[in-house]
Amino acid sequence: MSNSSSSASSSSFALRRELELWDDVVCYCGELAPILPQWSGVHPGRQYYGCGTYKYRTGGKNCGFFEWANEEMPLRSRIVINRLREQNGDMLREIEALMIVEEKLMEENNLLKEEVQVLQGCKRDLKRAVRLLLCCVIFFVSVMIMSML
Ligand SMILES: [Zn+2]
Repeated sequence: MSNSSSSASSSSFALRRELELWDDVVCYCGELAPILPQWSGVHPGRQYYGCGTYKYRTGGKNCGFFEWANEEMPLRSRIVINRLREQNGDMLREIEALMIVEEKLMEENNLLKEEVQVLQGCKRDLKRAVRLLLCCVIFFVSVMIMSML
């Protein structure tokens, strides 16, 4: 790791690019600065170098290092990216809603399966009852025929 980027203020974006020092950027903490994407605001999709401690320090405790890692995109691209991000957000919300519907349908399906099992049990009982009734009818008819003879 070189010390080429110890000071973000002394090295401009253009100079950094000229010297190809992309991966040696160090934040004020002395950590290697990761390249992070910016998705909100007026620079969607543009990458920047941030504080190297951002992953293990929570609650906004970092040195606040910030430096663009690539050039600004044309306005048209930014508009398209923002529109796609909005559409993506809409689709994600739709997926979430569909997942809730799917969960409810699965619950309903399980209840219906249980009901089918109960009804199949009833059907078996009913068949047994009909068979018993038939036997009784046959028996009584036989008794009547025998008594007539
Ligand atoms: Zn830092």
